[in-house]
Amino acid sequence: METQVNPLKMTDKLPLFVNKFWRDVWDNKRDGRIVAWCSGAGPFELLKAMDIVVVWPESYGGLCGVEGIGTEQCQRAENVGFSPDLCSVIRSFIGVVDGIPPVDPATLPHGGLPKPDLLVCKPFCPGIYRTWERWSRQFNIPLLVMERPRWHDRLSKEEIAHFTREGIEELKDMADVLGKFTGRSLNYDRLSEILALEREAAKLWWDIIGMCRNVPAPMSVFDAFTHFFPFVYLRATQEAVTYYRELKAEVADRVANKIGALAGEEKYRLYWDNLPVYFKIKEHRQKFASFGAIPVVGNCLYYIGFFPDEDSGNPLETMFELLFYHPSNRGLKGRIDFITKQIEGYSLDGLVMQRTRTCLAVNMGQDDIAEALVGKTGLPAVVVEGDLCDERLYSSAEFNKKIDGFMEVLGQEGQNRRSVSGKSMA
Ligand code: SF4
Repeated sequence: METQVNPLKMTDKLPLFVNKFWRDVWDNKRDGRIVAWCSGAGPFELLKAMDIVVVWPESYGGLCGVEGIGTEQCQRAENVGFSPDLCSVIRSFIGVVDGIPPVDPATLPHGGLPKPDLLVCKPFCPGIYRTWERWSRQFNIPLLVMERPRWHDRLSKEEIAHFTREGIEELKDMADVLGKFTGRSLNYDRLSEILALEREAAKLWWDIIGMCRNVPAPMSVFDAFTHFFPFVYLRATQEAVTYYRELKAEVADRVANKIGALAGEEKYRLYWDNLPVYFKIKEHRQKFASFGAIPVVGNCLYYIGFFPDEDSGNPLETMFELLFYHPSNRGLKGRIDFITKQIEGYSLDGLVMQRTRTCLAVNMGQDDIAEALVGKTGLPAVVVEGDLCDERLYSSAEFNKKIDGFMEVLGQEGQNRRSVSGKSMA
């Protein structure tokens, strides 16, 4: 029932920004500019600074999930021989690119993905690396790989300094290779401008999600999952800054006027772990709202707009720090500490741990994180099974049953459950 939630006005503006991004991509492709496919966590700033058009296939896979065509694309990828255990975001964009039977691009969102001239990847998960490697052979185009050491919990200052020096050298080497490929050299001022725009948009984004500490929350996690798309597509652009300034103004206005994202009383405020189930965002928003419940914070929201606090003044060092210190690149203790810090002040009543069946990278350590969060916060937790794009791996009946039971627990424990010791419903 749509009346249970108050949609943000910016939601109507979102397609304008996203459509313009894709129009520009295709116009640039037609004009003969170099197009690179970059993995989500890849060093895209370098590409932009060298006037290369960047497309993120993982985001496109996620979009297929949102549009409800993810399962179909996954099946196409499986027909080529890919395992159904492979991440459904990856299978979605493989299905789009070279699945069997081939798909008519005219039926795809934004006409599909323009063929790349170059591939750039940071192998965050093995599936991404193998896919980029395969496409490099298939399209007969260069593949550049940015290695990134893990920031594990016991690294010494000397080791971090060593990794930083190595990372900067690696980025310089990459810039040299790109220079030979494009015939242009890296403009460091342009790179600094790009990073400054990215930093500004990230700051705005963290301000926006931070405002959800207010009661009532002006925005839910599900709203935020919708509005982080500009951060993904329009990364490091003036458009992203403009978008988030407008969104921040609307969210601040809601806070000032005590307008919540829920239309009715806000009874339970929840933490959401992991990405959304892309094809069920609307349904999940309504499911929680029907109990007067609202997920108000999630780890991935803080992952999206992560940017180091200090500006080193060296753009390549900043780029390395972005990759190295990113919360998803930390050891288990580092991730637990990061999440524990970010969820402070949200007046939470419970934790919802969404287990994405085919994303091993984000799921890794999730049980330990859940246990630690329950221990540290004293909040009850529930684990729900989901997936990003493959509807065959999701059961509404199972999800609803878990949430119904969890809401019953929250109801029984009363409003002041933060003071009692936690328990977990697996
Ligand atoms: S496995 Fe996880 S991290 Fe890797 S592409 Fe899929 S969703 Fe992203």
